[in-house]
Amino acid sequence: MSRVSQLYDLQETDSEIMVRETALGNIEARLGESDDILSARQVLAEDRERAAALEPVQRDHEWQIDDFKTKISAVETKMYSGSVLSSRELTNLQEEVEALKRGQSRIDDALLVVLEQLEGLQISIRVQQSKLSQMEVEWDEEQQRLNAEKAKVNSELDRYKVRRSGQSSLVDPRDLSLYQSLIKGRGGRAVARVERNGCQGCRISIPLYQVQRARSGNEVVQCPSCERILYVN
Ligand SMILES: [Zn+2]
Repeated sequence: MSRVSQLYDLQETDSEIMVRETALGNIEARLGESDDILSARQVLAEDRERAAALEPVQRDHEWQIDDFKTKISAVETKMYSGSVLSSRELTNLQEEVEALKRGQSRIDDALLVVLEQLEGLQISIRVQQSKLSQMEVEWDEEQQRLNAEKAKVNSELDRYKVRRSGQSSLVDPRDLSLYQSLIKGRGGRAVARVERNGCQGCRISIPLYQVQRARSGNEVVQCPSCERILYVN
C-alpha cells in the first residue's frame, strides 16, 4: 500500500470516528432530565399546594355556616315555642335571626368562591397530571432509545479506534504529523481526492504535473491552495 493511500484510509477512518463523536455529543445532550418535565412537575406541585391551602378555608367556612344555622334554629325555636309573650321581645328575636342570616349569607358567598377556586384547581390538576404522565412515558421511551443508540455508536467507535490505531502505526511518523496538523484546521479532512484534475477539498484545478506526481502515491503532494494531501486513485 502506498504512503498516500495509507493516509487516505486513515482519513476515512477518522471521518467515521468524527461522525460518531458528533452523534454521541447529540445523544448526550438529550440524555438526562427534561426541562419540560421538571417545569410541568413544578407547576403541578404549586397547584396542589394551592388546593391543599384552600381545604382548611373551606372547612372553616362550613363550620361557621353550621354555627350560624344552629344559632338561627335556637332563636327560631324560642320564637315559636309560645314562651315569648311580648311583641317587643319577638321583634328583638326577629332582628337577631335576620342579623344571623345576613352573617351566614356572607360566609355562604365566601364558601362559594372557595369551592369555585378549588374546582378550577382540581380540573387543572387532573389535566396537568395526565399530560405529565404522557410526557414521562414519552421521555422514558426516548431515554431507552437514546441509551441503545449510545451503546451502538460507542461500540462502532471502539471498532474504528482499533482500526485507526492499526492504520496509524503503519504511517510514516512525519506523514502522520503533517496529517494531524492538517486535519485540525481543515474541517476534519487532511486528505483530498483528485477528480478530473480538481482538488475535491477546495475545488481548484491542480496543475497536471502535480497530479502526475501525486498519482504514484509514494510522494506526499499537497494541494497548492488548501494544502490538503492529494490522493489520486
Ligand atoms: Zn485543495
